[in-house]
Amino acid sequence: MDVHAPRPPGDSGLVVRDLAVSYGPVLALRGVSLDVPRGSVVAVLGGNGAGKSTLLRAVSGTLRFHRGGITAGEVTFGGKRLSGATTSAVVAGGVVQVPEGRRIFARMTVEENLRAGALGAPGRRSAAKAKERVLTLFPVLAERAGQRAGLLSGGEQQMLAIGRALMARPRMLLLDEPTLGLAPMMASRIADTVREINAGGTTVLLVEQNAAMALSLASHAYVLEVGEVVLSGPAAELATSDEVRRRYLGIEDAPEAAAGARPVLARWST
Ligand code: ATP
Repeated sequence: MDVHAPRPPGDSGLVVRDLAVSYGPVLALRGVSLDVPRGSVVAVLGGNGAGKSTLLRAVSGTLRFHRGGITAGEVTFGGKRLSGATTSAVVAGGVVQVPEGRRIFARMTVEENLRAGALGAPGRRSAAKAKERVLTLFPVLAERAGQRAGLLSGGEQQMLAIGRALMARPRMLLLDEPTLGLAPMMASRIADTVREINAGGTTVLLVEQNAAMALSLASHAYVLEVGEVVLSGPAAELATSDEVRRRYLGIEDAPEAAAGARPVLARWST
């Protein structure tokens, strides 16, 4: 299925148009437009301070907790306006964010964290089903159900954070740097899980500094620089574009690379 093909109104996924966001005098985003069609994985890449987290906050209705606000443009999901909505209204609308830094409840057990994720979700009846799905995706969370979440490894905490978000049965998941600080093996496990979640029908907006990982997961990607979209297109095309390879994938223009040697992928940082 071509998820980027035109869809009837109301069947659209996330649509961001001409978005501007400020934190007091600090203009963090300007003129940002992007589309995340239903059923797709779309990535937003960019270095420190590019505005990636700000974009997710604008979608999830959490800007006000950071003393920020939308000053222009709008965000809609499935044709319904999210900009201006409260965080709980956004969750009720099916859009749930997994925040950067995991922010699990460290003193609560794994089980209690998952239960907290189901609070505020529409209709509690299928909570058991959601939990079953989460524990199938992350069997380790079943093994550690009674343990304090703070005792989990970094990768397991990331799994718990994603699992907690899935307990709200989102139609769309917002992921903020899910592989940050993880060892490559764990990062690739998280990437596999994101693929599996998407294959189950959940639309994903993925914010990442790890451009190589994000481009391998996404169908389309956008590059943010100092609050503006400077590049966008199909992920496969961006991954092969010289500019993206050099600037965002850290691939050197060495003669052996040009001659077809295996490129070295590096984390992009500014
Ligand atoms: P990182 O990868 O470092 O998290 P980012 O791409 O997510 O970076 P943002 O955190 O969205 O970038 O920051 C975008 C801009 O907004 C930066 O200039 C940052 O300093 C500023 N900013 C972010 N949060 C606030 C805040 N609460 N108050 C004031 N300025 C902020």
